[in-house]
Amino acid sequence: MAVKYLLSEDRIPTMWYNIAADLPAPPPPPLHPGTLQPAGPDDLAPLFPMGLIMQEMSPERLIEIPDEVREIYRLWRPTPLLRAARWEKALGTPAKIYFKYEGVSPAGSHKPNTAVAQAWYNREEGIRKLTTETGAGQWGSALSLACQLLGMECLVYMVKVSFFQKPYRRSMIRVWGAEVIPSPSDTTESGRAILAQDPDSPGSLGIAISEAVEVAAKRDDTHYSLGSVLSHVLLHQTVIGQEAMEQMELAGAYPDVVVGCVGGGSNFAGIAFPFLGENLKKGKKTRIIAVEPAACPTMTKGIYAFDYGDTAKLTPLVKMETLGHDFIPPGIHAGGLRYHGMAPMVSHCHQLGLIEAESVMQNEVFSAGVSFARSEGIIPAPESNHAIAQVRKLADECKESGDAKTILFNLSGHGHFDMASYDNYLDGKLEDYAYPEEKIKEAMKNLPKV
Ligand SMILES: *Cc1c(COP(=O)(O)O)cnc(C)c1O
Repeated sequence: MAVKYLLSEDRIPTMWYNIAADLPAPPPPPLHPGTLQPAGPDDLAPLFPMGLIMQEMSPERLIEIPDEVREIYRLWRPTPLLRAARWEKALGTPAKIYFKYEGVSPAGSHKPNTAVAQAWYNREEGIRKLTTETGAGQWGSALSLACQLLGMECLVYMVKVSFFQKPYRRSMIRVWGAEVIPSPSDTTESGRAILAQDPDSPGSLGIAISEAVEVAAKRDDTHYSLGSVLSHVLLHQTVIGQEAMEQMELAGAYPDVVVGCVGGGSNFAGIAFPFLGENLKKGKKTRIIAVEPAACPTMTKGIYAFDYGDTAKLTPLVKMETLGHDFIPPGIHAGGLRYHGMAPMVSHCHQLGLIEAESVMQNEVFSAGVSFARSEGIIPAPESNHAIAQVRKLADECKESGDAKTILFNLSGHGHFDMASYDNYLDGKLEDYAYPEEKIKEAMKNLPKV
């Protein structure tokens, strides 16, 4: 099998897999936020190292993972692939359900896979410090871990409402040696502008991105780091799918369906793109399904258009499925799935009809997560529960048809810091909410005219 040469004896992949090489056409390039012309490598250089910019635009199928990055991956990789046999039984389904468990990383999710790689390429080019934003704290904790392991400084702007509601992720960031500031803050112009309008602003990912980007753009020794959406981030996550493919092979199985939850699209791409590559190269017919919250329906209801990545319009424009850069997320419990846009590469694959998208409501999401935890023990992150809800639907379909499909999903992280959300669900306090069509139409009026 072709996958073998991608893995070393310690069974950690030696290469990242770049789906761009196997697509019929690449996605459109990003545009400069000032000129609205295609952005070249130099336009991105104030924020990112050349090593990552080259990956962002690379047509190469396989990109070598640096030895030091693989050495750090060994702290938690390869991650386990498990068969959810007890859950299959509880559901009474003939389906064979496998999951890849990324919750075993020190930060408890897939995010360190790219955090370590991004910190490494920055340090190679003499960068001393990284800035970033974080919502619920998953990405901020992953990047602070990576910077600590590679001897770099890290500054995290954390959405203010989460800073106070999710104190333990904030504590992890500090244990791993980074500085964490609630956003909006008075440390940046973007933050001060928001505070002048609304001193009690709870913050948003878009605002926190503006603050982190502003600090990085002003200093030569500092760059910015993004935890999802960009193509190089998706690339780094393909270690998940490559390992899963080899592990499935050891189990004598190959998936009929691959499922992942989507926020910005990185863990989904990580598990799905290696299998999508097999569809494209070898004519395999695996169905690939991305699952999002009905409250933030970027893929199922958004528009495919050029849009900004942040509220203050400082980032390059990318063509993506979007709810508009001024999208204000409703207070749902899957903090990691509240971004207004979807990765350009995932959006492009969706537009080409190569992958499917589904949305699910909150109560169904938690009900599936609790059902899974009661059979398999693992308490999943609320984000991961979106994938689990979709898998349960597929398992029910198999029960009706008697079809014993093989299903693989990515369990992107554990939910140990999200127990308040589980309490809300168990106490019957979660409300189902679907983002209204009118709001989407309204936001579309503010899309940049390109
Ligand atoms: C951040 C996060 C997500 C969503 O981000 P993607 O880039 O879409 O993967 C999903 N699951 C967990 C556990 C996360 O921390």
